[in-house]
Amino acid sequence: MEPSVITFAVLVTLGGVAIAAWRMRKRLARVRRGLDIGSDRDPVLAIAALRDRASQAEMEVAARDLDGEAFAEALVQGVLFIDDELRIVRANGPAHELLKKSTGALVGQSLIEAFLNTEAEALARTASGEGSATGEIAVSGPDGPRLVLRARRVPSGGFWIVFEDVTELRRLQQIRTEFIDNLSHELRTPLTTVSLLAETLTREAEVAGDAIPLRMRDRIGKIEVETGHLVQMVNELLDLSRIESGGALGVVELVDLGDVATTSAERLRLFADRQGVELSVEVDAHVPQVRGDADRLGQVIVNLLHNAVKFSPDGGPVSVSVRSDGDSVVTAVADQGVGVPRAARDRIFERFYKVDRARVRGEAGGTGLGLAISRHIIEQHGGRIWVESTEGVGSIFSFAIPIAGLAG
Ligand code: ADP
Repeated sequence: MEPSVITFAVLVTLGGVAIAAWRMRKRLARVRRGLDIGSDRDPVLAIAALRDRASQAEMEVAARDLDGEAFAEALVQGVLFIDDELRIVRANGPAHELLKKSTGALVGQSLIEAFLNTEAEALARTASGEGSATGEIAVSGPDGPRLVLRARRVPSGGFWIVFEDVTELRRLQQIRTEFIDNLSHELRTPLTTVSLLAETLTREAEVAGDAIPLRMRDRIGKIEVETGHLVQMVNELLDLSRIESGGALGVVELVDLGDVATTSAERLRLFADRQGVELSVEVDAHVPQVRGDADRLGQVIVNLLHNAVKFSPDGGPVSVSVRSDGDSVVTAVADQGVGVPRAARDRIFERFYKVDRARVRGEAGGTGLGLAISRHIIEQHGGRIWVESTEGVGSIFSFAIPIAGLAG
């Protein structure tokens, strides 16, 4: 090929590249102007932002076009709008399906006609006073579903009621509870026997002294500790399923929480001494009585104290205090132990939840059920339980029970 032809071809190619680059730069400049971004912005980021903006614009258009009714129909929950006389003004398709009504039949009905009982109406009346209310009801009739309802008052008048079917969820929860209950019952008898045998063996090994090698005595001791844990776990599981099915409280009488706290601390004194923890009780003068089951309340305090000692691996003081506060008596257990991380504070009251299985020595480990049981017991007394804590500084677990005679 002629050199002049080659030069010409190279020039044409370079020109093409330059024009393409110029066009690309112009397009990018347009993109940047549209996005109001500086020229130092990475083009890849610019294009990603453009895409985001396009989808946001699409969403805005979609939201503008979105019809409230179409939205309500797309839900799996039943949605009702009711007027201040508690008559249904609007109802979506799922509401008709869940309440087994033909399409449109709900409009104009009262809540009693719709749900075939008075509970939904009572819930709406509560929402009328308090702004919102939540409850679970069983719809009457053959195969009537269990529904969770949330009612919310609308400032301009009327209420929204949103409800969903929890029949299947409750059935599965029931199966789980029965399964845990049956399994725990089956395990309890043989485990108690093994635990008693392990205890006897430990005693006999102690009496035998040097006749039994140290390593063997050590192993026997470990068997005793571990079977003790298993027995405790099984007992706590049984306790929890009993409490969850509503049968927790025994004798309900007037209770002096100061006395209960003192007795509970005595039960824990030996354990505290062994861990090098100094245990103290502070009861204010003239603390009013509460109405409750003294054994169950004692169980809560023992559990909180046990945790406080257990999670104070370096020793340190642990105290239980009882004082009156407004309409309630507040019992607080304070320690200067490992503390509870912020993220775990709500979760520690769930069953089986443990912050960190490696934080505490094996012998002091637990089941993760104690706080779940405690919360149930306190709630069954109409009270509440909570924790304040700083990691590495310590924790205060408190519960408040309404003063006897003031409980609503
Ligand atoms: P368990 O003590 O058997 O593990 P709990 O339900 O009593 O079960 O407690 C759940 C978890 O909450 C514990 O595993 C621990 O992580 C945390 N926790 C409870 N009490 C304390 C405490 N006083 N200090 C620090 N962490 C605690």
